[in-house]
Amino acid sequence: MAITLPARGFKWREIIISMRLIFQNPCPVPKQFDLIACEGCGSNRFSTLTDWNDLSKVVQCGQCGLQFVNPMPNQEYLDQLYQQDGEEHPYYRNYLLERTDRRSSYSKQYHRRLKLIENYAKGKGKLLDIGCGGGFFLKTAEERGWEPHGIDIVPGFIQFARNELQLKNTHCRSLEDLEYDKHFFDVIVLWDLIEHLPRPANFLETINRLLRPDGLLVIWTPNANNAAWLKENWFGYKPLQHLYFFSPRTLSQILQSAGFSVVYKNTNRAKKGFFTAPENRPYKKPERPLSKVDKIISGTKRDLKNFINPVNYISPLLDWTGYGFNLYVIGKKTAECTKENGEAKNASAKISTPSSDLTK
Ligand SMILES: [Zn+2]
Repeated sequence: MAITLPARGFKWREIIISMRLIFQNPCPVPKQFDLIACEGCGSNRFSTLTDWNDLSKVVQCGQCGLQFVNPMPNQEYLDQLYQQDGEEHPYYRNYLLERTDRRSSYSKQYHRRLKLIENYAKGKGKLLDIGCGGGFFLKTAEERGWEPHGIDIVPGFIQFARNELQLKNTHCRSLEDLEYDKHFFDVIVLWDLIEHLPRPANFLETINRLLRPDGLLVIWTPNANNAAWLKENWFGYKPLQHLYFFSPRTLSQILQSAGFSVVYKNTNRAKKGFFTAPENRPYKKPERPLSKVDKIISGTKRDLKNFINPVNYISPLLDWTGYGFNLYVIGKKTAECTKENGEAKNASAKISTPSSDLTK
């Protein structure tokens, strides 16, 4: 009887890794989830950080320290997840209202971010925001002299960006569906995006090709170091919304592998997640006072509360030592990604900005 040999390129390595993982972890892998090796270094030695009702878990690589969801939901599952939420999700419904209402306060924040980016950029050129939402950041960039480009998968956001903010270079597509020329952009920004991607290393390689030499990649993501106190109860471990959890060290490593050198690194707002368990977090922002007197009273109460709260005095120290909630990194493209990377087409930019804690 003839024996059929596996076709060339048969993924023995992946099979062996999967078998090892199955023996290490006797729980069956749910359908639409795949056991994966570490995206940062290829290792298959992990320790478990937190379990999510047998569906999946957050693990930490024993070799490079990268934290991620394993088994990892596959693209089909993620597409379903985001389709289910879609524009009916409260976050999507409130996003445009809130950003319009508080536009001047967000605008100040965007100016600060852009000012920092401009310290490292060679002039102002083409800037791409992946997961651009309604385009508020891009509008500020345009006001400062940048040529704004944006993509998002939520049709309502792009409609708003094009019609209300007159941002013509915005598209309701994923990155792999658009054919930008190689070296097209001067700056690419990912605000609260990279933690949602199932293949971040591939994605960064795609970005490398789109950036011109010395171009900048700007990343803002929750900082895994911020989980040091609360461990598995940390707010950033959002089941299946966040798939990767970077620290300053692991993000720098993965950026270096994709041809970037880190030129700026900072963490901030430590108190946002360091001591507050998810169940105690106020998910809904309090109503803002309407009258001037109410504003003064609520402002004084807030200042007094902050004055006697020891966390406020510890926070700056935590931020400074790399334990802040947000991790803000600017990488400069210093090497061309030379891998002939067919897989990079799978790198998913299909995910917009589904979390509710964004500062975009
Ligand atoms: Zn690793």
